[in-house]
Amino acid sequence: MEDLALSGSEIRKDYRTDSYSIIAPKRGSRPKELGEEDINKLDISKCPFERSNDSLTKELAKYGEPWEIKVIENVFPELSGNTPFGEFSAANGLFSSIGGYGYNEVLIDSQNHLDLFEDFSIDKLIEWLGVLIDREEVLYDRKYIKYVQVFKNYGGLGGASLAHPHTQIMAWPILIGTMDAESKIIKKRLKETTKCLYEELRDAEAGRLLVDNGNFFAIAPFGSRISAESMIIPKRHVSYIGDLSNDEKRDLVSALKSILITNIKLYGKHAYNFTIHELKDDPDFHMHLEIYPRLSTFAGIELGENVFVNTIAPEEYAEMFRNTLAVTK
Ligand SMILES: [Zn+2]
Ligand SMILES: [Zn+2]
Repeated sequence: MEDLALSGSEIRKDYRTDSYSIIAPKRGSRPKELGEEDINKLDISKCPFERSNDSLTKELAKYGEPWEIKVIENVFPELSGNTPFGEFSAANGLFSSIGGYGYNEVLIDSQNHLDLFEDFSIDKLIEWLGVLIDREEVLYDRKYIKYVQVFKNYGGLGGASLAHPHTQIMAWPILIGTMDAESKIIKKRLKETTKCLYEELRDAEAGRLLVDNGNFFAIAPFGSRISAESMIIPKRHVSYIGDLSNDEKRDLVSALKSILITNIKLYGKHAYNFTIHELKDDPDFHMHLEIYPRLSTFAGIELGENVFVNTIAPEEYAEMFRNTLAVTK
């Protein structure tokens, strides 16, 4: 572990289940804020995402003068461009691993510490999406990068270590975990039925439909692992977020905003995560955005069996969601 702590991180395959972990000892030292209810007690002047603290982080891109949105290097990355890229090697046939090559960037969504992402205007959200696409273009062009993941952690239970609104961008050297599984299932279904699974869902999941706004629809997936889990899907076959038209970008962020606000109306202010699943170089893939409210924590069944217990049926959530959305409009 000493070498690992010096060199960065390692992606390891678990010989028990063929699942993967990132072993990243350095991340243990990152800052930890208290729950979101304590935001007002924090000394904002110490927040590394403030304009006044620009010198504390490494700037990669900024938008506006003074900046309104800024992209920086993640100070506590899971993956690093300084780690050499290598092939998986398996010592003993058991210990299969590669160095944690890749990139972690942080997009600071706003210069204002107390802004809430869901309160951003649609125009501001479109600008945010444009910055994400700019960074993805840069990262997908780098050597050995297979997949660029965008995700947001909000609130203590969502794993956020800072309250200042921000989004994470992570460039992976291999396709593993959920992305690998989703990609394989899309290809299998395409081969068997000649149909794109995600295009079938608008009709197939009509009973669990949340939003339908022209170019996008959102559903509570049948097999949702998390209570009030949802997924936003373009109606057109689009693999990569950079290929969305301007109208599609507007409909995507508008669906995202509707879901975040409606979830708060339903469950009160809560921690959440969302992630964008997309693949620039795989035309079979159908991009989508998944939202996971963190209404409860994980326990023995989830960790022991990797089976999630969801206490709100997705169809029940969808019905409550539609009723609440209707009142909001
Ligand atoms: Zn701040
Ligand atoms: Zn499709």
